[in-house]
Amino acid sequence: MYGAAMKPFTFLLVFAMLTTADAQFSQQLFDSYDSYRYPDISSRRFKHAELMTHLAALQTRLGGLATMEEAGRSAEGRSINLLRLGTGKTKVFLWSQMHGDEPTATMALLDLLHYIALRRETPEVKAILKQTTLLIIPMLNPDGAERFQRRTSQGIDMNRDALRLQTPEARVLKSVRDTYQPEIGFNLHDQDPRYSVGDTGGVAVISLLTPAYNTEKSDNAVRTRAKKVASALTVTLERFVKGHLAKYDDTFEPRAFGDNIQKWGTSVVLIESGGWKNDPEKMFIRKLNCVGLLSVFHAVADGSYEKFGTAPYEAIPMNTKNLYDIIIEKATVVFPDGRPPLVADIAINKEEVRQPDGTWWKGRVVDFGDLSVFSAHDVYSGLGKSIDASIVEMGDIVNVEELLEKIR
Ligand SMILES: [Zn+2]
Repeated sequence: MYGAAMKPFTFLLVFAMLTTADAQFSQQLFDSYDSYRYPDISSRRFKHAELMTHLAALQTRLGGLATMEEAGRSAEGRSINLLRLGTGKTKVFLWSQMHGDEPTATMALLDLLHYIALRRETPEVKAILKQTTLLIIPMLNPDGAERFQRRTSQGIDMNRDALRLQTPEARVLKSVRDTYQPEIGFNLHDQDPRYSVGDTGGVAVISLLTPAYNTEKSDNAVRTRAKKVASALTVTLERFVKGHLAKYDDTFEPRAFGDNIQKWGTSVVLIESGGWKNDPEKMFIRKLNCVGLLSVFHAVADGSYEKFGTAPYEAIPMNTKNLYDIIIEKATVVFPDGRPPLVADIAINKEEVRQPDGTWWKGRVVDFGDLSVFSAHDVYSGLGKSIDASIVEMGDIVNVEELLEKIR
């Protein structure tokens, strides 16, 4: 018998064994990636129609392992699809590309589906499908993907639409979350490849965030579980890209999906695919997403993710944010082509230009949607006033005086 003093050692031994098994699995996933990578996609600028072809092909390869249903449609009528795999009690929900120009994780989702199809007889895949139910929405914003732009076709950043739910795409995400009430969620994005890890100067290949559910950034059972999942992911990825993981600022963002889904009871980990040397198409980062997610599915299936605690995630170095010049609040923006009108705040920054007539700045539309968390030097109410969408498109140079005339 071990004395009381040995117990911590016994615990460490068990911990070491578990983590060794996890390490072996993720190493194997990393080393053999080329054998299961979904081969028919090698460029980031794929669109909805192409994705549908890939999903149909994967469904055939998955046989009866996956069901796919239309969860809803975008503003322009493109399908948003939900795949379901596994029969386990722990539901793991993954959604990608709510920002249309952030496709890295969508490719990784195809890879991991392909892995499951090819390796269905392995103990790891069997364990994943027995212990978890995977709920996967690849490409939440197909209209944005069509244009390779962040926002929906209606100009809204759907990750600032979790409360108002003005976009059909946001309503799909909310409704799937509420229907299944998954225990764990992965919110999959791309970030600017020019972010670095703290002050190290190293490029952030991936940034992680367990979003706060309140302004105090408290920990409850839901967020603590998210931190444990993020820690499992951290430990896995550090084996391959040590020193290149960053942690996103966890300031509470009341309009974002991650923060709200955390609040609604699903433990959310946000994964931002960043940059990597000589990898403009982000194929290496796609691989990291795939390896990381499959490893974590397995750690969730056998419960070993609990053993990582929250420290590995907490220890990652950090990556910050805004005041605008002008905000027009709650104007009704009308779309002459028949798309429904919506209420939006419009942010305009002044850009300096030197012209002979003495004009020294021009206005540019820099944000659009629910901007209630921002402040501005000048705030104007647009309540009850209509503005034509064509004059306040993101990035547009606007004549500020003319625009302000319209809301006076
Ligand atoms: Zn994003």
